[in-house]
Amino acid sequence: MTTHEALHKYFGYREFRHEQEAIVDHVLNQKDAMVLMPTGGGKSICYQLPAVIFDGLTVVISPLIALMKDQVDALNINGINAAFLNSSQSDNEQREIIKQLKANQIKLLYLAPERLFSSESRLIDFLKTLKVSLIAIDEAHCISHWGHDFRPEYLMLAGLKIAFPNIPVIALTATADKITRKDILDKLNLNQPREFVSSFDRKNINYRIAPKKNSFTQLIAFLKEHQDDSGIIYCLSRQSTEDLATALQAQGYSAQAYHAGLEKKIKDQNQERFLRDEIKIIVATIAFGMGINKSNVRFVVHMDLPKNIEGYYQETGRAGRDGLPSKALLFYSYADVQKLQSFARVEGNEAQSKIMLKKLDDMVRFCQLQTCRRQYLLKYFDEDAPANCGSCDVCLSDYERIDGTIIAQKLFSAITRLNESFGITYLVDFLRGSKNEKIREAHKQLKTYGIGADLSKAEWQQYIRELIAQGFIRTEGDPYPVLKLTPQSAEVLKGQKKVQLIKSQTVHEEQVAEVV
Ligand code: ADP
Ligand code: ZN
Repeated sequence: MTTHEALHKYFGYREFRHEQEAIVDHVLNQKDAMVLMPTGGGKSICYQLPAVIFDGLTVVISPLIALMKDQVDALNINGINAAFLNSSQSDNEQREIIKQLKANQIKLLYLAPERLFSSESRLIDFLKTLKVSLIAIDEAHCISHWGHDFRPEYLMLAGLKIAFPNIPVIALTATADKITRKDILDKLNLNQPREFVSSFDRKNINYRIAPKKNSFTQLIAFLKEHQDDSGIIYCLSRQSTEDLATALQAQGYSAQAYHAGLEKKIKDQNQERFLRDEIKIIVATIAFGMGINKSNVRFVVHMDLPKNIEGYYQETGRAGRDGLPSKALLFYSYADVQKLQSFARVEGNEAQSKIMLKKLDDMVRFCQLQTCRRQYLLKYFDEDAPANCGSCDVCLSDYERIDGTIIAQKLFSAITRLNESFGITYLVDFLRGSKNEKIREAHKQLKTYGIGADLSKAEWQQYIRELIAQGFIRTEGDPYPVLKLTPQSAEVLKGQKKVQLIKSQTVHEEQVAEVV
């Protein structure tokens, strides 16, 4: 049977999606892999299909006990014998599964990482007595401090390659930037792993940021465009989800709250009714949505600023799984930034806080962009994208665009002349030929000194921010960042690439407000 036939026979799908086929082949060749695919992309098939084809057992590590049952039920319905072992089961249930494992009757076993190495069960020793064919590590970013969801128990997974040196390992995640990805590979000790990175572009989602002024009124205006649509509205606190749900009900909307503090019965009921379209709007904390697979969510609104891009991307990604046009709207305010900064400081230790603050900073930059938001999101996941997507608020706005090639060339030459050792303020003064005594005498002799005198300070600052956002230059160093060139800027200097900039203006906030 070919993998294609097996895909149809066991899972009922006619075609592979994204890179599923290449990944399955790679794993079947018993090689290690790292899979980066957006939520809903179809990661499960990448290890479930090899699992049914391999002779022995596939061990699946997953952090969320609550989701294991759903996965196992779904496999059992397809006639694949899968099971999980966790603390929610009785001793008898666990013994039964152990018996079946010994008889080689189970194809996939789901486990939480702590279970594998905990001293009383030492499940790892038992697994070594079985024929294990494959190990899959779901939500692999949990192993990295750099990720947004670090779980210390994941660090123990480093022991897997020691216990099973010759068994292929496939690590999967929906959210990992470059450093997190490298960290995952290092920590898991994968053996010459191949990385499979799928596109993160959700073309049917329109991204929009609005300054938060009177967010309830703004929200109601937005909802008028979405009278009968399903949507999720995220709030930072449990209390605000309840307050907002009540306020929306008073306006005649079918809305219910969802957060981790609600009784399980109420939560299940609200979720269930939302899935069946009996409730149109769920007002939730980020506790809502993990493992939810509702295809016709037409909008996702963030009433408050998310803590990082990964979370934002994942939450907005719950819109438009059916491929139809959908909206992501976020209300942005500086007060939220300050609030989250103070949370980040108390929540973690110093190193952890620093990472959280950096991630928050990336989130803030996203909100303040004057360049394509999609391009920024994709760049965050190391993916190249055109400068204009045509479906985010920036690209749809009537900001006037100019050919910024010469502006960019002037800036890049100045950065080069100053040996990539100066920050924005100094460069702007230098470009404008400032007589300021802070500018070194030797620099005043350079040919590039004063070549940007035609632009104001504010204009230069905006263009520099845009050029950073577009990836031509980057900042390095803390707390005194200096500007550095990237390979992209070399092409501009050589005249091989043109640069588009949004014509400088100072009234952006008000213009964005009118969109809502
Ligand atoms: P992820 O784990 O990446 O979030 P899942 O593995 O849960 O994604 O798959 C998301 C959805 O896509 C599921 O409903 C699944 O049934 C469906 N799916 C996955 N692969 C295919 C495929 N090849 N053809 C059609 N549907 C698929
Ligand atoms: Zn865009």
